[in-house]
Amino acid sequence: MVVRFGSAGAPDSFYAQGYKSSLDMPAWLAAQGLNAYEYQCSRGVRIKEETARELGERARQYDIKLSIHAPYYINLSTEDPEKKVKTKGYILDSLRAARWMGATTVVFHPGGGPGDNRQETFKRAQNYLREILLEVKEEGLDDILLAAETMGKLNQIGSLDEILGLCSLGHPVVPCIDFGHLNAVTQGSLKTKADFAAVLDKIADALGEQILQNLHIHFSPVEFTGAGEKKHWTLKESHLYGPDFAPLAELILERRMEPVIICESQGTQAEDALVFKSIYEKLSEEK
Ligand SMILES: [Zn+2]
Repeated sequence: MVVRFGSAGAPDSFYAQGYKSSLDMPAWLAAQGLNAYEYQCSRGVRIKEETARELGERARQYDIKLSIHAPYYINLSTEDPEKKVKTKGYILDSLRAARWMGATTVVFHPGGGPGDNRQETFKRAQNYLREILLEVKEEGLDDILLAAETMGKLNQIGSLDEILGLCSLGHPVVPCIDFGHLNAVTQGSLKTKADFAAVLDKIADALGEQILQNLHIHFSPVEFTGAGEKKHWTLKESHLYGPDFAPLAELILERRMEPVIICESQGTQAEDALVFKSIYEKLSEEK
């Protein structure tokens, strides 16, 4: 079983060691003992084809599984014609960059608030995603998974139910379960193994075992208020904010899952991913 652990973007330590280019990340991550890298296009898809192809080469050389985080500006439920065109563009451009690098997954935020009628807003998002998928298919980009991420704030479309609803459109839409967000938006509901198990069961019931087995996961401590997510922290403060990785690690082992786990801790995403990895490895030695 291969459980992969990796970093969202490059951590502070990478830059502190004098590195500047993401092209150096695959070798750097491999040297740390990590094997996944989520390339950040969160502020726009600006990577050139040549660079993307080179990054892909190096990732394969060092056995680093690549994914891309699509721009934050995506808003599937918008009614503004201009924003709709842009939203589609962000998704297609991310997929094209993924194709160049050989990334298997593009993670995206559905975007937008709930509006006056949350259910209607969600339906609009789902319908627009369905429309975009036609073009994705036409362009032959539908072998890359589009992972809709669970969001951290109450006033954002992206609750677990809404994400599963988007995934009901079927391939290539899958969930990206951000447990830090999920914990924040549910006021710290993820504490025990049973709490995590309920989430995994819900995914399997809605989308099948296959999707659960290969789940794309974001995990990092997220501070929250009554409105949900406030700030991403690092494992140094995780005792304050949670969630705890150990219960999830136990379930991953028991259910023989092979997820990719990307850590989004503020600045220490590689170091914290290594902590998760060691928790998982220690548990698997005990079993
Ligand atoms: Zn995200």
